[in-house]
Amino acid sequence: MCDVCEKNSLARTFAYTRGTDGGKYNLVQCNVCGMIVVWPPPTKKFLDSFYASYKGRVKKGIIEWGDPIQANRAAIEDGYLKMKYVVEFAGIKQRGRVLDIGCGHGFFVYAVQDLGYQALGVDVDPEAIDFGQSRLGIDIEKVSIDCLEVLQKDFDIVTAWQVLEHLRMPGSCTRSVSKLLKPGGVFAGSVPNVGGITARLRGTKWYLMIPPEHLNYFTERSMKHMLTQAGLVPLFVGTIPLYASPYFSFGIRVAIMRLSRKTSIKPVKAICKHLHRSLTLAKRHLVYKLLNILIIRLKLGGNSIFFVASKTEPSE
Ligand SMILES: [Zn+2]
Repeated sequence: MCDVCEKNSLARTFAYTRGTDGGKYNLVQCNVCGMIVVWPPPTKKFLDSFYASYKGRVKKGIIEWGDPIQANRAAIEDGYLKMKYVVEFAGIKQRGRVLDIGCGHGFFVYAVQDLGYQALGVDVDPEAIDFGQSRLGIDIEKVSIDCLEVLQKDFDIVTAWQVLEHLRMPGSCTRSVSKLLKPGGVFAGSVPNVGGITARLRGTKWYLMIPPEHLNYFTERSMKHMLTQAGLVPLFVGTIPLYASPYFSFGIRVAIMRLSRKTSIKPVKAICKHLHRSLTLAKRHLVYKLLNILIIRLKLGGNSIFFVASKTEPSE
């Protein structure tokens, strides 16, 4: 049974892939909506113990010392930018109640609160919740995504950033989000894009194909299916510049770093350091920007899908 389109249509084995835990995972595709999922899905018990020892990539980047706002500026700026797109695509005019599901440390919640919204985050990681509450001073509750119905209803906006791909039942989650929204409310978020150029080129070696962390692999088509099935009207499902670039790691930078480590000649070390820094900056400001333009213009599909949907047809 496909949780996205609710049809009994999971058929074709798409591929086998090795998981981050070393396990072998079977990927199947839905005949109706095209959704690709890990099948059979891991049990809840298995996932609970997996996540108990899970140190996400994001977590490693969290700087616990010093001013948490200054130290995590980039993540907060990212939040402003995401919200800017949500407001633009949904035509939001008033600042209302926002719920961020799977909020992690809560940088997005902090950003939207800073923009004047009433914001609440939910997560299950006690460390992340503690960080958000005590260091960012934001509102986070310990609520599992399976039990969203315990929350008070009528949110204006619900967001889920890189969350739905982790869930055993993303379709069911989207349908419960829909129930939490007030009429005209907006559901927005992002998921990795298995239909994007990097995923298509890399196949099962794509760096975001990582079961059992990622159990669901969306394309723009299956995302639209899931939103529609939950009674939502897709307003935008596609690539935005923030999510277009594939994370190419340049072999040349790795080589420079190695050389700098091996050598004991000071001037060589200094040159390596500057070269590495310049290439990093070039990648961020030049290469990524150019790739973004190419990927969006040529409709190649970015690394992640950005989606914005509303509970009812916008009255225009
Ligand atoms: Zn389906």
